[in-house]
Amino acid sequence: MVDAQIRARGIADQRVLRAMEKIPRHLFIDAGLIDQAYNDSALPIDRQQTISQPYIVALMSAAVALTGKEKVLEIGTGSGYQTAILAELADQVFSIERIAVLANRARKALDALNCYNVAIRVGDGTYGWREESPFAAIVVTAGAPQVPRTLIEQLAVGGSLVVPVGSRHSQNLLKLTRLSANPDDLRREELGGCRFVDLIGEHGWNHS
Ligand code: SAH
Repeated sequence: MVDAQIRARGIADQRVLRAMEKIPRHLFIDAGLIDQAYNDSALPIDRQQTISQPYIVALMSAAVALTGKEKVLEIGTGSGYQTAILAELADQVFSIERIAVLANRARKALDALNCYNVAIRVGDGTYGWREESPFAAIVVTAGAPQVPRTLIEQLAVGGSLVVPVGSRHSQNLLKLTRLSANPDDLRREELGGCRFVDLIGEHGWNHS
């Protein structure tokens, strides 16, 4: 998987490649789909949600350029697979999932891998996790109608937010780097097209 889908598409961050070689994706996938665990695609998890495509996980993880010392926030724990990769790359990971059954299942998978530097909270991640802010990186793994401003406000100066923004059917993966104390002072990069499930919440899509 790492050679054919990740290195071959130009992801060169050695720490990301090593993390993806180490974390077994099949531990985050329902038993019935286990034979597809290392395929080049997103797969359904419970509650009409998906585990992201491995390449997208690598792209988002590389985009935030972690060194191992950072505090990171993830919105949309889902299966916990991206969480586990971030836990390898950063010092501490805080992850928010709105669906309790998914958060509980992710916690079990992460515990089985001894990922003890991860805290998971059930709730609306579009509010962020203010008590633990600022974060050196924030990764949103669900598609937003616009950049949630609350998350920019919880980003450390110099930190970056990676978030898919667009319609419910297709998004552009954005990387926003906070350049100063002013939350409007941002560098904006487009990392390419993608398709995520909806980010549902106060600063996301407002259906349930
Ligand atoms: N990175 C995950 C992606 C899961 S899909 C993985 O690879 O497994 C996106 C997840 O975001 C879903 O589990 C969905 O329930 C969750 N989500 C959507 N809106 C949310 C919100 N406002 N706060 C927290 N989680 C949210």
